Amino acid sequence: MAQEDIFKKLVAHCKEYGFVFQSSEIYDGLGAVYDYGQNGVELKNNIKKYWWDSMVMLHENVVGLDSAIFMHPTIWKASGHVDAFNDPLIDNKDSKKRYRADVLIEDQLAKFEEKMNKEVAKAKKRFGDAFDETQFRETNPRVLANQQKWNDLHARFSKALNDNDLAELKQIIVDQEIACPISGTRNWTDVRQFNLMFGTEMGSTSDGALKVYLRPETAQGIFVNYLNVQKTGRMKIPFGIAQIGKAFRNEIVARQFIFRMREFEQMEMQFFVRPGSELDWFDQWKETRMKWHRALGFGDDNYRFHVHEKLAHYANAAVDVEYKFPFGFKEVEGIHSRTDFDLSQHQEFSGKKIQYYDPELGKSYVPYVVETSIGVDRMFLQIMAASYNEEELEAANGKKDTRVVLRLPAALAPIKLAVMPLVKKDGLPEKAREIIDDLKFDFKCQYDEKDSIGKRYRRQDAVGTPFCVTVDHQTLEDATVTIRYRDTMKQERVAIADLKGMIANEVSFKALFAKLN
Ligand code: ATP
Repeated sequence: MAQEDIFKKLVAHCKEYGFVFQSSEIYDGLGAVYDYGQNGVELKNNIKKYWWDSMVMLHENVVGLDSAIFMHPTIWKASGHVDAFNDPLIDNKDSKKRYRADVLIEDQLAKFEEKMNKEVAKAKKRFGDAFDETQFRETNPRVLANQQKWNDLHARFSKALNDNDLAELKQIIVDQEIACPISGTRNWTDVRQFNLMFGTEMGSTSDGALKVYLRPETAQGIFVNYLNVQKTGRMKIPFGIAQIGKAFRNEIVARQFIFRMREFEQMEMQFFVRPGSELDWFDQWKETRMKWHRALGFGDDNYRFHVHEKLAHYANAAVDVEYKFPFGFKEVEGIHSRTDFDLSQHQEFSGKKIQYYDPELGKSYVPYVVETSIGVDRMFLQIMAASYNEEELEAANGKKDTRVVLRLPAALAPIKLAVMPLVKKDGLPEKAREIIDDLKFDFKCQYDEKDSIGKRYRRQDAVGTPFCVTVDHQTLEDATVTIRYRDTMKQERVAIADLKGMIANEVSFKALFAKLN
């Protein structure tokens, strides 16, 4: 099946099984904002637990924080977000549609590529086996003409971006005769910088309310609490502060479901280190974080590092952890060496000394910072994409059958076990409830008595429940049940008394954490 089709199916599956809903759906939705349903919220909470515990339980020197979304507006001035957290925007005056100028030009580049590829495909068909693609690309006049156009445009575009030259971006759009896909006209406004931060107002005093922002990253809440945590926690460098929380970005081009949202959640950890040691710590955190991803068992080859060619103004090293999504390798997490930029800026803008006295060195300094930053929602999508399987099964009567199964790591599964009475009578439902009442303190359980057992199994497979327990007449006689395993579909008879131990072993986070040590 084509990768795009798999992605479409995944999005539909997320809705059908209560994982992710479009926000405000009954009002036709709100762009790039999503809600998590009954199964989604459980999975999301488990992802957060996996991250949180791996940070604050497995590292003695990492502690947590929960800072407010609203912060003093000068924080965003100091961090550079007010002046530089921008995308270049252009509007079509006829359709009133808004575009990212850089994306319009990138699409134009893609058109030249497409034209070249079409020529190649045509020639390939004509010449068959004898076709030499390299030679054709080097000699065919139409391909060469398009290649030249691509080279010229690419050079001009790169220069305009690097020079931050908005007038030149507009001129490129005019010169290339790029038209609005909706109105078909070339009636463009000038290119403007568009700040990605959402602003709002706080209070309503007569002399005006305070302009505040919804935070576009959680990290700044950590930086401005550095002194509070270091002092009250008597933390010694190196140490880290971890935080999970909402972040907001007014993304102009928001696509690909929960991959790029306007309201999302981040899990960030800032690790404060001695100046000069940051690149060693950067390497260590790179490794630690990659292990965390790979411990989930989705295949080591599906992850890779992508080193940033162009560094942000505050960084002296940066790398992304990428996962092979159905739409290609894409960033899931960023690991950045942020130098002392943020703390120094806050020291300057607040006028408060933000330094650490290092008793071993006998001097004070502004600590350097290595950051690990991962989106909860993007991780959610990664896990769903990796877990979703459509399997062909051989049915008992020889006919082909299929099942959709989410092969979620058991620790992350929304429901750990489903308990099902074989029939809705003879005391079986009561026995099933008794089992749930005993196990519900330890695991998220679900009771299901509707439809055939086969259908009930399929429903649990589709939400990734690792265990199904069936209560039948024999249960009433010998206190045993049938346990059925999601991945192998194997069934075995076990004593009710053994259930808790068996399941606890499989669904605990311990097995995952053991892989991280
Ligand atoms: P991208 O290049 O995809 O826009 P970024 O480099 O701007 O991402 P960071 O600022 O490094 O992202 O944020 C860290 C992490 O937060 C990302 O790796 C991603 O998992 C998540 N993230 C960032 N923006 C969004 C968004 N709009 N929707 C969902 N998750 C996001």
